[in-house]
Amino acid sequence: MSEDGAPTADDVPNFERYARQMVFAPVGAAGQKKLAAGRVLIVGVGGLGSWVAELLARAGVGFLRLTDDDRVDEVNLHRQALYAQADADARRPKVQAAAARLRQLNSQAAVEPIAQRLDHRNIAALADDVQLIIDGTDNFATRFLINDYSVKMARPWIFAGAVGAEAQMAVFVPGQTACLRCVLDELPPVCRDPNCRTAGVLSMPVAAIAAFEAMEAIKILLGRLDAVSPYLLKLDLWSNQVQRLNLARHRNAQCECCGQRQFEYLQP
Ligand SMILES: [Zn+2]
Repeated sequence: MSEDGAPTADDVPNFERYARQMVFAPVGAAGQKKLAAGRVLIVGVGGLGSWVAELLARAGVGFLRLTDDDRVDEVNLHRQALYAQADADARRPKVQAAAARLRQLNSQAAVEPIAQRLDHRNIAALADDVQLIIDGTDNFATRFLINDYSVKMARPWIFAGAVGAEAQMAVFVPGQTACLRCVLDELPPVCRDPNCRTAGVLSMPVAAIAAFEAMEAIKILLGRLDAVSPYLLKLDLWSNQVQRLNLARHRNAQCECCGQRQFEYLQP
């Protein structure tokens, strides 16, 4: 920091890269340092995880751990932004292709690819040393697992899902907001359907809601919980409708997870 308080190149490695972002007052040089020290787990690098990982890597978030046991397929390419035709042709593991692309985008980002599906056995090892968990999955079994872990360990997580031209997003902050299981009835039935993938999805709602997820992640990494969205946000990009549901008002004292602290998804 210079005498006049302006950030200098010493504050952040390769400071110039983030100049436009640091001009935004809530980031600044101090915030950029926090982002450089930020540690995030992204569960699933499909459509949502791809976009979120790219945005966070470009923003200068220092450490991104990616978990996914899938390989790139041609049918992924319309919405999974980190992958190219060659990745699909070679059927590369998604975390491997994603890590290579993210390192191209920002060599300062430490990316740790883990070619595993998140489950009750590995979640502690993969999530204990991060500040928040980002949902890039397509299934509720994994989301309930993340939700249980989040409530038990008081770790914020960001939920998102997309189907058709619709998308939803919510930040769950243990002790402040409802948890996923408190608001499950508010989610579209098709989104909760285990066969969600058969309903189809466009890339636009995925990209849109991933941007909201990444923005909320940045707020958390900056320590700005006061600015975090208190809503379950629902977007319909086809009809241009936006709905918001206040999460604080939907806390359920009877909730088995955040009310009674029973963490069945963390059990074998
Ligand atoms: Zn709950």
